[in-house]
Amino acid sequence: MDFLHTQLGVIQQKLAFVTTDPIDWKFYVQVFSWTVTLFESYLVLRQYPLYSKTEPPKALAPHFEEGVFEKSQKYGKDKAKFALFSGLYKQIIDSTMLQYGFYAWSWGAAGRLLAKAGYGSNYEILQSIAFVFILYFLSSIPTLPLSVYSTFVLEERHGFNKTTPGLFAADLLKGWAVAFILGSPFLAAFLYIFKWAGDRFVPWLMAFMISFQLIMVVIYPTVIQPLFNKLSPLPSGDLRTRIESLASKLKFPLKHLYEIDGSKRSSHSNAYFFGLPWSKHIVIFDTLIQQSKPEEVEAVLAHELGHWYFLHPTKMMAISQVHIFTILALFPAFLHAPPLLRSFDFPKTVSSTPPTIVAFLLFQMILTPLEAVVSIAMNAVSRHFEWEADRFACELQDRLQVAEMNDMGERLGKALIILHVKNLSTVWVDWLYSAYHHSHPTLTERLKALEAFQVTREKKKM
Ligand SMILES: [Zn+2]
Repeated sequence: MDFLHTQLGVIQQKLAFVTTDPIDWKFYVQVFSWTVTLFESYLVLRQYPLYSKTEPPKALAPHFEEGVFEKSQKYGKDKAKFALFSGLYKQIIDSTMLQYGFYAWSWGAAGRLLAKAGYGSNYEILQSIAFVFILYFLSSIPTLPLSVYSTFVLEERHGFNKTTPGLFAADLLKGWAVAFILGSPFLAAFLYIFKWAGDRFVPWLMAFMISFQLIMVVIYPTVIQPLFNKLSPLPSGDLRTRIESLASKLKFPLKHLYEIDGSKRSSHSNAYFFGLPWSKHIVIFDTLIQQSKPEEVEAVLAHELGHWYFLHPTKMMAISQVHIFTILALFPAFLHAPPLLRSFDFPKTVSSTPPTIVAFLLFQMILTPLEAVVSIAMNAVSRHFEWEADRFACELQDRLQVAEMNDMGERLGKALIILHVKNLSTVWVDWLYSAYHHSHPTLTERLKALEAFQVTREKKKM
C-alpha cells in the first residue's frame, strides 16, 4: 500500500501547479467540449450522404423486401438530422450554463435550501446531495423536449414507438425516483470516504466502487428492471429446449430463462444474459422471438454465450477499473485547488476550502478530451469481443461435436440480417463514424467475418 501511495504522491507533485496557478480552466473546458461536439457533427456530415444511396450492398440486397431499404435510408436520414440538431442544442445549453456560472449558482442554491431546513454550511455531504439533484434536475429540463420529439415524432413516424404519453411520464418519474433512492446513499458513502480516508482515499474508493458495481449486477435486473419491464419465464417449447440444451452442453450455469416485453416501448429487439458467476439469467426480447425462427434465436444465444465463455463482461469490468483508477489517481491534485473553483465563478468563501463534490465535478469536465479517446478505445475492444463471440458461435460444432450445429454461423448471419432489417438499421456506414460511435462491427463486416470463419473450418476438415 505504501508503494502505491508513493507513486500517487509523484503524480500529485507533477500536477502541483493545479493547486497554485490561476489557469483559465473554464476557457479550456469550453474549447474541449466544443471541439468534441464539432467533431461529432463532422462525423454526422460524413455519414449523411450515405443515406442517399439507392441500393443496399450486394450481399444484403436479397434480404430486403420491396421498399424496406428505402425506409431504412429515410429513418437513418431523419435520425442523423436529429442527432446533428440535438448535439449542437445540448452543447449550446451546456456552454451557456458553464459561461454564466450555473455550477456556482447551484451550489449556493443547495446551501440556501438546506439553510431553510435548518442545516448550516458544515453539512457538506447533505449540501452535496442537494447540489447534485439541483444540477441533475435543472439540466434535464432543456433536453426533455428532445426525448419527447425523439419518441413521439421520430420513432413514431417510422413505426417503432410503442410508448404512450402516460408510460413516458411514468418512466421519467420512476427514473428520477430510482436515481434519488440509489444515488443519495451512493453519493453520501462516496463523499464520506474522502472525509474518512483523507488523501489516502484511492484504494478505499476503488474498493467501494467495485462493491457498488457488484451490488448493481444483482440489484439492477432483479429490482430495477422489473420496474420498467415485465420479465416472464420463457414458455416451454422448441426454443426453450434448444437454449437449455445449449447452456448445459457449454456448462453455462443457467438459472432462469426469461422473455422480456421489450415491445411495450419499442419494437427494437435483442437478447442478453446477466448474473453472478454461479447463477446466470438469460433474457430474450419478445420481438426477437417473433421475428426469428427458434434455430436463429439459438444462434444469437450461441453468440451471447461466446461472450460468457471468453469472459468478456469480466474483462470489460477489469478495463473499466483501470479507467476509474487512472481518474482517481489524477484527482488528488485537483481536490484542494482554489484556483480551479475560482475559474468557474465560485465565490472566495467556497473556493478557499473546495467541497469535494464540486472539485470532482469540475475535474470530470476537464477530462472530457481524455474520455473521448477512452471511449474510442473501448469501442475497439468491444468490437474485437463481438468478432470473437461470432467466431465462437460459428465454430460451436467443432467444440461440442453436435452435428446439427454445423450451420450455426449461417443461422447467426440470418438472425443478424433480420434484426438489422426489422430495426431499419443503417447498412451503409462511414468507417470513422462507426469507429467513434459503434461498439459493434457493421453488419457487412460481421457477415464477411462469419463467411471467413466457415471457410477456415471447412479447410481444417479437409
Ligand atoms: Zn455481442
